[in-house]
Amino acid sequence: MAALVEYLDTCAAGRGRVVDLTPVSAHLASFDVDRWIATGGMEGAALGAFLAAYLERSTKLHHPRFLAHQVAVPHPYAALADLVAGITNNGMAVFEMGPPAVALERAMVRWLLAQVPWPDGSGVLTHGGSLANLTALLCARARANSNAWRQGVAARSLAVLAPASCHYSTARAVAVMGLGTDAVIPIGTDAAGRIEPADLAGALRRARGEGRRPIAVVANACTTSAGVYDPLRAVGEFCQREGIWFHVDGCHGAGAMLSPALRARVDGIDLADSIAWDAHKMLRTSALCAAVLFRDPRAAAQTFQQQAVYFDESQDQDRPNLFPLALECTKTSLGLKLFLVLAALGEGGLRAHVEGACRRTAEFHRIIVARPGFQCPVEPEANILCFRYGTQNGEQERIRQALMAEGSFYLSSTMLEGLRYLRMVVMNDHTTEAHIVALLTRIEQLAGKPAS
Ligand SMILES: *Cc1c(COP(=O)(O)O)cnc(C)c1O
Repeated sequence: MAALVEYLDTCAAGRGRVVDLTPVSAHLASFDVDRWIATGGMEGAALGAFLAAYLERSTKLHHPRFLAHQVAVPHPYAALADLVAGITNNGMAVFEMGPPAVALERAMVRWLLAQVPWPDGSGVLTHGGSLANLTALLCARARANSNAWRQGVAARSLAVLAPASCHYSTARAVAVMGLGTDAVIPIGTDAAGRIEPADLAGALRRARGEGRRPIAVVANACTTSAGVYDPLRAVGEFCQREGIWFHVDGCHGAGAMLSPALRARVDGIDLADSIAWDAHKMLRTSALCAAVLFRDPRAAAQTFQQQAVYFDESQDQDRPNLFPLALECTKTSLGLKLFLVLAALGEGGLRAHVEGACRRTAEFHRIIVARPGFQCPVEPEANILCFRYGTQNGEQERIRQALMAEGSFYLSSTMLEGLRYLRMVVMNDHTTEAHIVALLTRIEQLAGKPAS
């Protein structure tokens, strides 16, 4: 506990490196891993020393100069839930293995559904958004082809329409389902990666032209790279007209539903058939904690079998088994994590976190575009911001590596329309304009230096 408190204090004060790229071999040697494996007996001061060294070199999400990825700065209550889950180790496939955990999962699914609002919907918590997307697409496949679960699918028979700006988990899900990644038929986008509704009919024609039957259209709320929202209402209306399953990948940005000020970004999300939503991104839980939500509980019940256990009369609805809805068998107590965050912050506290991150990102954008030499390709719509210094693609990655090497700032990077950009994701409530000004100054200094 002392080592963890020291870690959090160091991060909160903005002291020390935010990231440390010491390689695997050096870590293993300094932790004396082989000796500990052979002898065991790490306790007391030795355990404290190991944890201090481990934490010191860990990537510090609680540090205000952490700006790289979409992973939440977890609320301490989420970490407490991890500890409780680790000690109780209550399963979650069946009600008997953790009645309170199952109860909280049900409550959290109901709360997430209420944000859509889908009061009659259903859903399940999953270990991450990639699994949530796979689960939703399996459900879409079951609706389009109810024999697929038992008989598999014929080669080149099905398609999923999705923009190239989709997270790679969509293509992976399609491949995992045995459709082959060629089954992903791209929908045209604008330069920022937003679906062009005018191309939906064209994508459908291209799929049918290949003899494929589309099982789903996937839209982003928001995209991973540039953080922009697809026009969900237009896509949803198209899917309704054509009778195609509409999946919204809201892993990162579905939290806009919590805020009246941001709600317009996800206008039309209620037209979806399914939504994937990560709580470990914008909702302050530790990883992993995600949900897949379904508008129609009967469709959801058919994802993993043809005989819907959900409607099995012998199932006690107030003592539900979760395995029929989830790919996983054993799960950790995911609902407990989100519940404790909500119990600490309230809905209002989470809303303020989401709104604050998006508002500060807009402010940082104004600072960056006003600074000579810096450009932003897209006005941010969430808390993801792409920018570059100078005009060279290679220079962006060189700057990023130099920042990581000195441990001063941690950014990610991305490609948009063939250009390399630095990318920041504003996850930490304690990142201020002063940090961004310091970042820009440091980038100018590093760019002036020859590569070492
Ligand atoms: C992060 C992300 C995912 C993947 O979620 P994991 O929880 O990392 O598996 C999928 N889609 C989008 C849009 C994302 O931002």
